[in-house]
Amino acid sequence: MESVAASSRLNKGLRPHYLSLPQGSLCQVTYLWIDGTGEGLRNKTRTLEKEPQTIDDIPEWNFHGPSTYQATGSNSDMYLIPVRMFRDPFMLDPNKLVLCQVFTYDRLPAEFNRRLSCSKVMEQVLEHRLWFGMEQEYTLLGMDRRPYGWPANGFPQPQGPYSCGVGADRAYGRDIVECHYKACLYAGIKIVGTNAEVMPSQWEFQVGTCEGIEMGDHLWVARFILHRVCEDFGVIASMDPKPLQGDWNGAGCHTNVSTKEMREEGGLEHIERAIEKLGRRHTRHIRVYDPRGGEDNKRRLTGFHETASINHFSAGVASREVSIRIPRQVSQDKRGYFEDRRPSANCDPYSVTEAIAYTCLLEAEGEEE
Ligand code: ADP
Ligand code: MN
Ligand code: MN
Ligand code: MN
Repeated sequence: MESVAASSRLNKGLRPHYLSLPQGSLCQVTYLWIDGTGEGLRNKTRTLEKEPQTIDDIPEWNFHGPSTYQATGSNSDMYLIPVRMFRDPFMLDPNKLVLCQVFTYDRLPAEFNRRLSCSKVMEQVLEHRLWFGMEQEYTLLGMDRRPYGWPANGFPQPQGPYSCGVGADRAYGRDIVECHYKACLYAGIKIVGTNAEVMPSQWEFQVGTCEGIEMGDHLWVARFILHRVCEDFGVIASMDPKPLQGDWNGAGCHTNVSTKEMREEGGLEHIERAIEKLGRRHTRHIRVYDPRGGEDNKRRLTGFHETASINHFSAGVASREVSIRIPRQVSQDKRGYFEDRRPSANCDPYSVTEAIAYTCLLEAEGEEE
């Protein structure tokens, strides 16, 4: 199989002509939602009479559930309820991308709609001003599902030169990374950075800081934009936490966390208390840190390649072989944030942030797992 997709071989030079055609006061709105795998994103587009000013101007919509693994049988229409609006970096202003929650015909959250329960928890912890920043790692793959740019037979030279690297033999696929970054900024995603990762063809972008439910919303739309940019270039962005066995790093979604109390003077004490609580709930967290209850992360959290074992909870200052890391600067300042290194690259950020908020801020002391 050819490693670059057919879609990328279309003449992209024609596109700007059509995009520049005037559209009057009409507005194209692309609805996005998470499908029944809990990992895939789906989208469809409609025309609105005028540009929506807020999320309330965007009507509910629906789709056929069985086509996205989301319903069976006769009551198969699902509702799309708009929750957050972004500028559309592909169709350009005034067009929009709109993230939606999925509900069943009887108005219950669909199986992989984790946003509703997350937002309820976030409402209960509002006073703590809970901030998150997530580091999304991913691997670029060709259509043959081998890492993009790797030799057809054999392997690139061992890990070492690639992390934050530059040069044709070190950085594989930078166009995608830069275009994704720009597209996110245009859209209004709170993207704060990007870097090449330890394994060639592996990259990371960071989103944050976001408060509460905003974290999941921004990360999911940033992922959509990544898949959409990759489509233009004809390669695939994989969130598999361990795309290759052997001496190659896996892909995580480190989650950085702070409350108002942690950010204030003497906040380290609050950070340490949160870590203690997380330590007592290691299994609960591992269960929700990938879409398969820990099965995916098992391949990644081996205790090697900058990870800690999935079987034991650990924490430490400046160490990258732990479940939870306190950055050196935070330990010096005695305030700031901590980093949960366990979430898998394919985690649902709603589940991850909900579990952290619940364990650290809502659960009564001494409650058993
Ligand atoms: P690393 O050194 O682990 O690779 P990165 O620079 O990739 O760290 O990412 C740092 C992340 O921490 C960013 O997503 C940023 O938004 C987040 N962050 C910074 N300060 C805070 C804070 N006070 N609370 C929560 N997250 C934070
Ligand atoms: Mn990082
Ligand atoms: Mn990283
Ligand atoms: Mn990190």
